[in-house]
Amino acid sequence: MKYYLAVDLGASKTRIAVCSKDTIVEKTVEITPKQGDEYTIARFIWETVRKRFPTYIENIEAVGVASIGPLDIKKGIAVNPTNLPFKEIKLLEPLTTYFGTRVLVANDAVAAAWGEKNYGLGKPFKNIVYLTLSTGVGAGVIVDNHLLIGKEGNAHEVGHIIIDFNSELECGCGGRGHWEAFAGGINIPRVAKLLASKHKISSELFEFLLKHPEATAKDVFEYCRRGDRLGMLVVDLYVKASRAGIASIINTYDPELLVLGGGVFLNNQDILFEKIVSGLENDVVTSMPVIKPTAFGDDVGLYGALALAANPPRELLEVQGV
Ligand SMILES: [Zn+2]
Repeated sequence: MKYYLAVDLGASKTRIAVCSKDTIVEKTVEITPKQGDEYTIARFIWETVRKRFPTYIENIEAVGVASIGPLDIKKGIAVNPTNLPFKEIKLLEPLTTYFGTRVLVANDAVAAAWGEKNYGLGKPFKNIVYLTLSTGVGAGVIVDNHLLIGKEGNAHEVGHIIIDFNSELECGCGGRGHWEAFAGGINIPRVAKLLASKHKISSELFEFLLKHPEATAKDVFEYCRRGDRLGMLVVDLYVKASRAGIASIINTYDPELLVLGGGVFLNNQDILFEKIVSGLENDVVTSMPVIKPTAFGDDVGLYGALALAANPPRELLEVQGV
């Protein structure tokens, strides 16, 4: 039997799965290495597969990698990835050597869009956007059945849509007023501190943030759930920013289906989904798409990677020349 290897490379965790052409057969979730050189991650993937899935290794037909970005799409290298201390992570070339088979590498949200198209909610549609609301904000876009790539592989960088051109809020990329500056999980504690000092809000969340510089988006959402005023303001801003971003996506790409995923969204669906979606049609010039959370949960990146391996998109084959 033929198998495919799916790899979802994240800043904190790396998921690796052996798959049939339709589904995940066996998977493992590992901590992503934080030290080493540009080949460390590829070596780690190879060693993990040898250790965990030795009986499948001879029968792997192709490898798909859904990776954190930004990517040098032609070379299949992650360049200065957010939250990982590597200047470069070489994927395409070393993995091709290790596995001796075809390897395709794409940004994780791009892969997820392809996964939704092949295995998920996107099956009946030609025009799909997968949006991840996670540590960062990103998307994968399929228009008229074509996976969008762009001249350097960045046709989907929706997190850097300017949603407030008067904003002082700086994004991780250096720009101001970008969607990700408001809604990237990594930026949420910073947004809370800024709002607190600007509006002179006293709140338990603010006290907590001052004492815990390592606080995360999870903490902010927890305080919001408890009714903390600052926590609620931050989440309200998150919702407004995401509504503006999503309206821009719909107006730009005209999708039939918009799938929502990403850790920050999936962990807080109950308080985010309705608020983000209701009334959105007022800001949209085209007809509204179907909007749904991904049904794959944490495995969406793996299904994306499987789709790259088992049914490679022509657009990516052309760029990566395999
Ligand atoms: Zn930006």
